[in-house]
Amino acid sequence: MDNKKLLFLTKTADILVKELDAYDLVNELKGVLKNYAEIKDLNIFVFDPNTSTIRNYAQNWCIIDDVVKDEVRTSIYNAYNDIHGNDFVINGKAFKLPQTISEISFKIESLYMPIVKNGMVFGVIELLFEENSLIDMTALFVMKIFGAQISLKLQNIVLNEQSQINVEFHDSMKNIAKIIETQYEINYIVPLIGEMLDRFISDHLIYVFLKQDNEFTLVWPKACNDERVFEILKQLDKDYSSMLAYEDKIGAFPLLSEEEITGCIVAKSMIEKLSKRDIDYLEQLTRQAAATINRANSYSTILQYATLDALTNLNNRRQFETRLGQEISITKRQGKPLCAMMVDIDFFKSVNDTYGHAAGDEVLRTVAGIIKKALRESDIPARYGGEEFAVLLPFTHIDEAKIVGERLRKAVEEASITINQDTEDEKQIKVTISMGLAEFDSKESGEALFERADKALYDAKTNGRNQVQVNV
Ligand code: GH3
Ligand code: MG
Ligand code: MG
Repeated sequence: MDNKKLLFLTKTADILVKELDAYDLVNELKGVLKNYAEIKDLNIFVFDPNTSTIRNYAQNWCIIDDVVKDEVRTSIYNAYNDIHGNDFVINGKAFKLPQTISEISFKIESLYMPIVKNGMVFGVIELLFEENSLIDMTALFVMKIFGAQISLKLQNIVLNEQSQINVEFHDSMKNIAKIIETQYEINYIVPLIGEMLDRFISDHLIYVFLKQDNEFTLVWPKACNDERVFEILKQLDKDYSSMLAYEDKIGAFPLLSEEEITGCIVAKSMIEKLSKRDIDYLEQLTRQAAATINRANSYSTILQYATLDALTNLNNRRQFETRLGQEISITKRQGKPLCAMMVDIDFFKSVNDTYGHAAGDEVLRTVAGIIKKALRESDIPARYGGEEFAVLLPFTHIDEAKIVGERLRKAVEEASITINQDTEDEKQIKVTISMGLAEFDSKESGEALFERADKALYDAKTNGRNQVQVNV
């Protein structure tokens, strides 16, 4: 190899051991390359399986579809598709290096080299040459070494990003564990687990199934259109810690409690097969998820006998139903008035999404406190569901209930709620509530009464929220 080529490869190696950000890395590589060949441009493109798009590594990972002209985009996508199993795509054609080096040289405009991980292509390096440039076989062999060096570097970068993700994952696992200390509704916890897995295992689609009445029921996300996912579930056996199928592209990881399968997490890869690393990772995640779900399950058994909601200290739903039955019979016997109130926090999902679930819990606790304070001793408030409260107002006519309701609505609107107290993220935020009211009609059931209050609540929502509506 002559000096010029040797110098080029050495300089490349020097750059690649430096800690550079994406932009500088590509720029420096372009610099050495320009000294060696007549290069107009160098780009590194990485395929993102989540969106099935190609992204420019040096430009903040931006999707090239949005920024380059159609024909440029087509040539990059074509190169990415054609390069599998080849050494290059040169001037739009796939090319494999011959066994021997010959003296042949030819005109070159563009050259693409693969970026590979475990033998799988996950990106391309693009070289665009000045007009009428020539390249010979030896130079192509050198390019192959150049490409392989960059490929290795990018592999490491991607791996590093993944281990960073690992750290974040453990932090967030801890957070989730903290949140569910006060939560026992599987319906609330499972989507949290699903969202988290999805965020941390971004190369794969994640599905969470729970076993209900001996059948696997998809609980997260809302739908799964891939029949193969259901096929693999049918074959699941509790002796397996995990199961792979369809060329190892789909993995099923059962959620185990002591003696049985309580559910399953399925990961579906969109490109390559699940690697040993993915599998280890998913097995670990599944064990943690199973522990979380099992704990919630046993918590919920214990709480069946409790009367108060653990987060808000209001009556829980079950206790509320008992009290409702009692109050209805008293009311009927004594012919006294009774009102029902349904309360729902407005846009509560965005509180969770913006500030996190722990802050959301803080808001729930505060709103519950305000509700309790705004009511009389004889009123019966309850946490009815996630962010819904129900209140029974004995000895109360609807006109009075409207006054109480309006006072409560206003109190919530005016309250500054402290979230993340005593941390650097401490903040005051505001929320509003919508409310539906209904007065008991002696001919109806307690259930029907609350159905009417719920209808009024719905009207309050559709009418613009932060208001009280009455069902008449
Ligand atoms: P709307 O004004 O229509 O009521 O909008 P919304 O966002 O309040 O309604 P939606 O029903 O879409 O969202 C309710 C959210 O409440 C979704 C769920 O994650 C959250 N949630 C339910 N239970 C809990 C809980 O115990 N803690 C926290 N932090 N969030 C909860
Ligand atoms: Mg709601
Ligand atoms: Mg709501």
